[in-house]
Amino acid sequence: MPFWKQEIECIDREELSQVQLEGLQATLNRVYKNVRHFRKIFREIDFVPEDLRSLDDLKRLPFLTRKDLGKNYPYDLFAVPLREVVRLHTTSFNFDEPIVIGFTRNDMINWTELTARNLFAMGVTKDDVLQVALNFGSMSGPFGFQAGAERIGASVIPMSGGKPAEQVKVMRDFKTTVLISTPTAALRLARAMEEMDVDPHALVLKLGVFGSEPWGESMRAEIESRLHIPAADTYGLTEAFVPGVAWECPAKNGLHLAEDHFIAEVIDPATGDVLPPGSEGELVITTISKEAFPLIRFKTGDITKIDEAPCSCGRTHCRISRIFSRCDDVMILRGVSITPDQIGRILARINGSAPVFQLVVERNDDADQLFVRIEISDRFFFDEMKKQRRFVEEVHKAVSEFLGWEVNVRLVESGTFDHNKQVLDMRRFV
Ligand SMILES: [Zn+2]
Repeated sequence: MPFWKQEIECIDREELSQVQLEGLQATLNRVYKNVRHFRKIFREIDFVPEDLRSLDDLKRLPFLTRKDLGKNYPYDLFAVPLREVVRLHTTSFNFDEPIVIGFTRNDMINWTELTARNLFAMGVTKDDVLQVALNFGSMSGPFGFQAGAERIGASVIPMSGGKPAEQVKVMRDFKTTVLISTPTAALRLARAMEEMDVDPHALVLKLGVFGSEPWGESMRAEIESRLHIPAADTYGLTEAFVPGVAWECPAKNGLHLAEDHFIAEVIDPATGDVLPPGSEGELVITTISKEAFPLIRFKTGDITKIDEAPCSCGRTHCRISRIFSRCDDVMILRGVSITPDQIGRILARINGSAPVFQLVVERNDDADQLFVRIEISDRFFFDEMKKQRRFVEEVHKAVSEFLGWEVNVRLVESGTFDHNKQVLDMRRFV
């Protein structure tokens, strides 16, 4: 069984607790000293870093939300001076308040090591050729894969999200052995191969690593049968590292979380109560090694459960179950986060006020599709067909431009959908 760093990956749990406690104490000291936001919220509960005596004391601290991160845009949550930051990434600018994530030199080293650990656990070696078919932009994911693969000594082809036919040509001609993409992009490549009459058996592809959007076991089975490769799941957090937070080992019964860098809790999203291992709830992450942009009890919005049982692979770090849903109204489509509020604001801009609408998400034709259903009401009157058509066209144009791909817009009669369900996600992940 290959380990990148066996002494860490198979560490004794008691020893791991000590590593976590020391990392947490150092992190709390750093944020208390350098970040106004944390100093303020700690003072509000009369807490100083010295009060943390055991890992259990972490529960006393308040949660950190995405809103908190947005409010401190761009640099107010940095725990080091900007001159110590060597890399800046952002979350999607589709959020009204984007988040800037800084990395020190040590953060970059840790991120690279974690990604190398992730890829190595999946079977990547220095002999591999990785095709990274994720967009190299302000988002961190593709850069993380590139650094981790190069750390192992593998070759990297940074293809970004180019046309499927080009991807397939490179895959065949450059002898790609590992594909890294979103799961829906992998299916588009499978279709391109069929159209180009390229037999996946004739390629030397041996592994696919997929993330950035939710995907379930049925999709895994489809990718594996159409591309003739095992498909592995990886989990990253834009606000921390992507990838490098949790990943599947060959046993594929959950994703090992890098507990020497992160402390995971699962909470009841409604009450904030910490749930026992095995219970499903919202994943809360605390970073214990990050220097530039530490997170203390960050509410990820992702729904999962923690499994502390030993894994057959020998790794001792806990596993989180695959993530298919969220506890907030953020939808992840084509690797991009979208909220109904954002769409509502676009509609209000066009119409003067936001009409009642519902967003329906489907996955077909190898891609996520978004349907915007807008209710016709007396207040929102459209007695003229021409006006209706123009409105639909305007909404279609504005939302499509905002997202960067074509959406479907329909006017529907009152009573067509339940007003309490603003989002109807029809994608099936299990
Ligand atoms: Zn394992």
